[in-house]
Amino acid sequence: MKKKFNLKKKIQQFRAWRERPREVAPLSTEEHECLNCHDHYTGNFCPRCGQSAATSRFSMKVAAENFAEAYGMGERGMFRTILDLILRPGYLILDYLRGKRASYFAPFKMYFLLAAVSLLVTHGLNITGNALHDDSEYVVNEVNQERNADSAAKSSGSVTKDDAQNSFAEDYPEEYRMYSVIFSTLEKIERFAQKYPSINVLFLLMFISGNLFLFFRHSPNIPDLRYPELFISLVYIANMYTIYSIVFDFFSLTKLTILALLLTIIPLKQMSGYGWWSTILRAIVAFIIMFVLLVAFIALMVAGVGLFVKYHG
Ligand SMILES: [Zn+2]
Repeated sequence: MKKKFNLKKKIQQFRAWRERPREVAPLSTEEHECLNCHDHYTGNFCPRCGQSAATSRFSMKVAAENFAEAYGMGERGMFRTILDLILRPGYLILDYLRGKRASYFAPFKMYFLLAAVSLLVTHGLNITGNALHDDSEYVVNEVNQERNADSAAKSSGSVTKDDAQNSFAEDYPEEYRMYSVIFSTLEKIERFAQKYPSINVLFLLMFISGNLFLFFRHSPNIPDLRYPELFISLVYIANMYTIYSIVFDFFSLTKLTILALLLTIIPLKQMSGYGWWSTILRAIVAFIIMFVLLVAFIALMVAGVGLFVKYHG
């Protein structure tokens, strides 16, 4: 009789595997002689000098590992950590916070390595062979804007595409110049965010971290979450995002990176132990509070500029 493929059972097994903390293989009782200091010992590393019991003659593999070590990628944890960040990100974070540090690649180290790879991909190492996010379009816009502001300030009555904008520029040339500076700064920030996704997402997560802490500090899985623990978790979550954005940018599917941003809900759900809706609601409220604060800040800035121009202009 043919064995039936049971999808439901497979999914159950996958879920159980995901939640299970990483197991470390049992220690062999085999005795080793350290090739460096000739001590005899059992275990994976020499207790005197720390050299690995697996030290062997050079092969291509050993040479490649030696090379990778120079770039901080020598530890085998790297690829397993990448895989875990895709398949079980929140459970990886739980493992890490609960003390399974050596099983995983360290979060900040991983962040800088991924940021470097991401930088290469957005600057040309992708299937198009070109830098994504071309700057030339923005530069042309900026030059046009400046020209409009100048011509509007100098000659009155010139008819152009954007009459409302120009009449404002005519009546209030000082304010127009100030607002142009604010908006071009915002545009520059947006451009920066597209060119450096890893830096962008970490900034965003750090910015929202205070609000997230408010909503996740007493979760079922971690009832007494500390802020630094959340901070470390967010670095791993930023790493997860960067992995997806590298893949999307590599295939020039840059628009999909918004999907990667939505996927950050998964680790939040897994590490907190809240249900889907509870997690999503908490994240949304945290995001809205951040957004309101940001808008209030910009409004204050714009109002401040208006007042400054009114009394000093
Ligand atoms: Zn030794």
